[in-house]
Amino acid sequence: SVFIGGSIAGLAEIYTSLQKSIGATENLMEILDEPEEAITPVTHIAPADQLDGQISFRNISFHYPSRPDLTILKDVSFDVDEDQKVALVGPSGAGKSTIVSLLLRLYDPIDGRVLYDGKPGTSIQLSVLRSQMAVVPQDVFLFGGTIRENIAYGKPDATEDEIEAAARKANAWEFIRNFPLGLETIVGERGIQLSGGQRQRIAIARAVLKNPRILILDEATSALDSESERLVQDALDKLMEGRTSIVIAHRLSTIRQADKIIVLDKGQIVEQGTHTELIGVDGGLYRMLSEMQFSH
Ligand code: ADP
Ligand code: MG
Repeated sequence: SVFIGGSIAGLAEIYTSLQKSIGATENLMEILDEPEEAITPVTHIAPADQLDGQISFRNISFHYPSRPDLTILKDVSFDVDEDQKVALVGPSGAGKSTIVSLLLRLYDPIDGRVLYDGKPGTSIQLSVLRSQMAVVPQDVFLFGGTIRENIAYGKPDATEDEIEAAARKANAWEFIRNFPLGLETIVGERGIQLSGGQRQRIAIARAVLKNPRILILDEATSALDSESERLVQDALDKLMEGRTSIVIAHRLSTIRQADKIIVLDKGQIVEQGTHTELIGVDGGLYRMLSEMQFSH
């Protein structure tokens, strides 16, 4: 596949853009050459309405198609209200990113349902669903093109002013402006190599422009140095305002203010609550993970 190196989340974005430009779902899986990630064809086309941003996972169980013997999620249920900020935490391999993949409908669950505003995901047209979600992953995938194209990609008809405003909100305008070609700077293998923090901020500008109802951050700041992290975290905090956000955070200090924290271990939810509630649980996993992080 040409998209080697892109994360699953990146794939979702690419998938969406291909779907837009080609307009033929049938051919897409061949192009992507990822038969394992096949998606249930959408038979019922719902009207292209806006999502409110409410999400429910109802008794979700899941294994990847390639490993039917390996249960990844077991009876996972949780609710995210409109405009809430919900954090997913837990040890590496617990199933956090898999939840994101199910949310994007890169896969459908084996058991249980994902509901958006109370409607099953399978009843909502995939392009409608994906047009209202944006992901900022840990490893941002930029395609070989200009910075402008990479930012405008969620909204190809964006004006110059909109692109600049998005870059400013993402704390990206300063460094973009300092390139001799500014927004026309070519990035990727044939162009300028950007730092992790710079790529992250371009992904944030892309999300700002897309203005999604649902924002997903999958360890978006975990690969950054502390100066970049501050700029990125600041941009993310602004981006989360006024929309539903699902945040997977490596550093627990960044999710203390979340409306709800969901703690996963080996594919199951072991605790749910606010920081104050969970830190008070003697012998609880959240408390243990927090103590581990603050002890060094
Ligand atoms: P987390 O994000 O919490 O670190 P993941 O959801 O990425 O955890 O992974 C959960 C489990 O699923 C791990 O055991 C991982 O190896 C497995 N896994 C992740 N992606 C795939 C895949 N595409 N195919 C098969 N197994 C996978
Ligand atoms: Mg992960």
